[in-house]
Amino acid sequence: MSNKHIVVIPGDGIGAEITAAALSVAQAAAEKCGCSFTHEIKQAGGAAIDAFGVPLPEDTVEACRKADGVLLGAVGGPKWDNVAPELRAEKAILGLRKALGLYANLRPVKAFPALAGQSPLKPEIVSTVDILIVRELNGGIYYGPRQEATMIKGIEQACDSEVYSRPEVERIVRLACRAAISRKGRVMSVDKANVLATSRLWRKVAAEVAADYSQITLDNMYVDNCAMQLVLNPGSFDVIVTGNLFGDILSDEAAVLTGSIGLLPSASLGDGTGLYEPIHGSAPDIAGKGIANPLGTILSAAMLFRYSLGNEQAAVMIEKAVDQVLADGYRTADIYQQGFTKVSTEEMGRQVIARL
Ligand code: ATP
Ligand code: MG
Repeated sequence: MSNKHIVVIPGDGIGAEITAAALSVAQAAAEKCGCSFTHEIKQAGGAAIDAFGVPLPEDTVEACRKADGVLLGAVGGPKWDNVAPELRAEKAILGLRKALGLYANLRPVKAFPALAGQSPLKPEIVSTVDILIVRELNGGIYYGPRQEATMIKGIEQACDSEVYSRPEVERIVRLACRAAISRKGRVMSVDKANVLATSRLWRKVAAEVAADYSQITLDNMYVDNCAMQLVLNPGSFDVIVTGNLFGDILSDEAAVLTGSIGLLPSASLGDGTGLYEPIHGSAPDIAGKGIANPLGTILSAAMLFRYSLGNEQAAVMIEKAVDQVLADGYRTADIYQQGFTKVSTEEMGRQVIARL
C-alpha cells in the first residue's frame, strides 16, 4: 500500500469530531501494518455553503476524483434547511455520487455480541446476523421518468417509473458476487419478478452474471418475503443484492436489527474513487459536545482499507479492535447502559487505537 492518498470531508454537525477520531485510528492501523497514506481535508455540505456559497465546491470534487478514497462524516442540518433546492447541503452527497460514478452502496450489518441486549431481536437470533447489503445506487425508480402531480381529466395524478438496463444490472450483481467470494459465497438477489418487468430482467441478468463465479451460489427472493426473513431468520443471509428502492428500504430495516445505528458503516463504490461514511446523519442536536459515537465512521475507515486501499489486514485489525472495545465495556452516550464505562468521542477513538 504505497503512495495512497485519501480525502477527508468532515461535513457538518458531528462530522468533524467523528472523522477526526476515525482518521487517527486509520493512521494508527496503517502504521501497525507498516504502510501509510497521505490525506487532505476538504469541505462539502453546509460547511461549504458557509465558506464558498455552494454545497459541493469544484475543488472538493477534483480532489476526490484524484484520491484513492474519500472518508466523509455527514452533511446537512437545520441551519441549511431553508435554502434554495440547488443549495441544499444534501446536494453534496448526490453531486459526489454522480461525479465519482458511484453505483453501488454497501452496508455490512453485523451483530456486535457486546450489544446484543440492545437489539429488538432475541440475543440468540441477533448473534447470527452478518449480512452485506449491496444496493444499486444510480438507477431504478429514483432516476426514471417522472411526472409531478397534474390534473388529468379532473383527477390529480403523478407518475414515477422504474427503468433498469442490462449493463446496470450486470455491474451491480458482479460487484456483489465479487464481495461474496471473501465471505460465505452466497448471494441473494432480491426483486419483485412476479409483478415487475424490471425485476424479470434483473433476475435473468443476475443468473447469467453469477454463472461466471463458480465459488458463489445465487438465489432469488421476492422483496416482501425478504423483508419478513430479515426479521425472522436474518442469519440465513450472506450478501443481498437489490435495486435502488428495495435496497433503500431493506438496508434501513437490516440496520436496526443490531440495535446500534451509530455503529454502522457504509461504502459507495464505482469504477473510480470509493466514498465511505457512517449510515447516520450529522446529528446537529449533539454536535460539538464531544459525545458522538465515532464507531460507524471508524468502521467506514476499515471499509476504505478493504475496498479502496487494498489493505485487508488493516481493515480486519480495525474491526477486531472495535469488537474488543465494546467487549471491554466502553460506551459513548448513545449506547451507554449502567455498569459500563462512558467515554467521549475522542476517548473512544483512543481506546480503539490501544487495541489495534
Ligand atoms: P439525516 O437526515 O442526515 O439522516 P437524521 O435527522 O435522519 O439525519 P441523524 O442525524 O442520524 O438523523 O440523527 C438521528 C438521531 O440519532 C439524533 O438524535 C442523533 O443525535 C442520533 N445520532 C446519530 N448519529 C449519532 C452518533 N454517531 N452518535 C450518537 N448519536 C447519534
Ligand atoms: Mg435520516
